[in-house]
Amino acid sequence: MTTARDVLDRCAELDRFTATPPQLERVYLSREHASANAVAGRWMEEAGLRTWQDAAGNQCGRREGAAPGLPALLVGSHLDTVPDAGSYDGMLGVVMAIAVAQRLRDRELPFALEVIGFSDEEGTRFGKALLGSQALAGVWEEDWWDLRDRDGVTLHQAFLEFGLDPRRVGEAARRPDELVGYLEAHIEQGPYLEAEDRSLGYVTTIAGARRFRLSFIGEARHAGGTPYSRRRDALVGASEAIVLIERRARASDCIATVGRIEVQPGAINVIPGRADISLDLRAATDDERDLMWTMLRSEIERACAQRGLRLEVRETHHASAMPCAPWLQEAVMAGIRSTGDDDPVGLWSRAGHDAMAVGLTTDVGMLFLRCHDGISHHPEEDVRELDVSAGLDALERAVLEVAARIEVSA
Ligand SMILES: [Zn+2]
Repeated sequence: MTTARDVLDRCAELDRFTATPPQLERVYLSREHASANAVAGRWMEEAGLRTWQDAAGNQCGRREGAAPGLPALLVGSHLDTVPDAGSYDGMLGVVMAIAVAQRLRDRELPFALEVIGFSDEEGTRFGKALLGSQALAGVWEEDWWDLRDRDGVTLHQAFLEFGLDPRRVGEAARRPDELVGYLEAHIEQGPYLEAEDRSLGYVTTIAGARRFRLSFIGEARHAGGTPYSRRRDALVGASEAIVLIERRARASDCIATVGRIEVQPGAINVIPGRADISLDLRAATDDERDLMWTMLRSEIERACAQRGLRLEVRETHHASAMPCAPWLQEAVMAGIRSTGDDDPVGLWSRAGHDAMAVGLTTDVGMLFLRCHDGISHHPEEDVRELDVSAGLDALERAVLEVAARIEVSA
C-alpha cells in the first residue's frame, strides 16, 4: 500500500525537475515539465493505469471500470509551479491521486478511474492560468496562441518545441458524458484548518476573482511651489483608496488586495500626476464580490471628487465562482468522517484551482489538507505526514462514495 511517507518522498522526487536549482520552478512546456510527466506516468503505470500525455501536455492515466469505456472519475491536480515554489501546491494532489489508484487497483469500480496531472495551472510562463484544465474543458481560445513568455516564445512555438501539435489541442477536450466528475486534493494555502486544529476540510466553492486597474489622474506640479489648496495629488488619492479598500474588505467576507502601484512622473520633487493601482477582489459568491465592488467604486469616486482627481477603471480579469457539486461535497465529507473527524469543516477556496476550469465540463469536488502556517507559493510550504495519511484515507473513501452513488443510480 502506498503510504503518506511514499507520497511525501515522491513530492520530493519531483523537486528535481526544476529550471532554477536549488529553487523550484517548473513551467508549462519546459524540459522539466516533460520530465515530471514521464516520472508521474511511470508511477501511474505502477499503479495499474494505462498512460498517455494528452494534446495539451496533461499527463493522464486510466484504468477501466466494470466494463470498458465507462465514463471516468477524474482525480488529480497540477504538476507546474510558480517561481521559487514549494513542493506541494499541485504535486501533492497528483501524487495522492496515484496513491489512491494504487490502493484501489484490485477493486472493481462502476466507472473508469483516471488520474490527471495538469500541465499548467499557475500560468507562470504565459501569464494565463489554467491552460491545461481549460484544454480539458474544451474552452481553448484561438488568441491564446500568440501569448508570449519572457523570452518572446509564443505558446504556439512552445507547443511545437514540446512535440505537441497546436492544431490538435481540441483532442484534449472531454465531453460531459465521458465523465462522472472530478476530485482534487490540494493543500489549503491558508491558515484556517490549522487554526481549527483539523487535518482536512471540504471545499464548498472556489472563488472567482475580479481584477481591476484603477487610475487616479491629477496634475503633476512643482513640489515646492504648489500650495496644498492648488494640488491634485494622484498618489495621495490612490493611498486613500488603498486604505479604504482594506477597511471595507476587513469588515466583510470579501478579500481585497492592492498588489501593485505605479506613480508618474515618479520624481522626488514633483507632485504625482497619475497613480495606477491594481485591485484583486474575491468572495465566496459572485454576488458578495460584485456588491463590494459597487460600494468600493462609489466611495473611491467620491474621495477622488473631493481631491479634484479623475478616476479611470479598467477590468482586467473576471472569473465566476465555481461551486463544488453538493453530491461531491458529500462524498468528500464522508471521506473526512472516515478519518475520525465527525463534523467536517467546509471552506471556500480563496485561491484558484484546476477544478474551476474542469467544472465547466463536469461536477467537481475538492479536499483540502492543512498547510503549515498557511504558507504557500513559497519554498517553506509544508504539509504533515499525519495529514497526508488522513488525506489519503479520505480521498480513497470519497472515490468509493462516488462509486456507491453511481451504483445506486445505475
Ligand atoms: Zn495549486
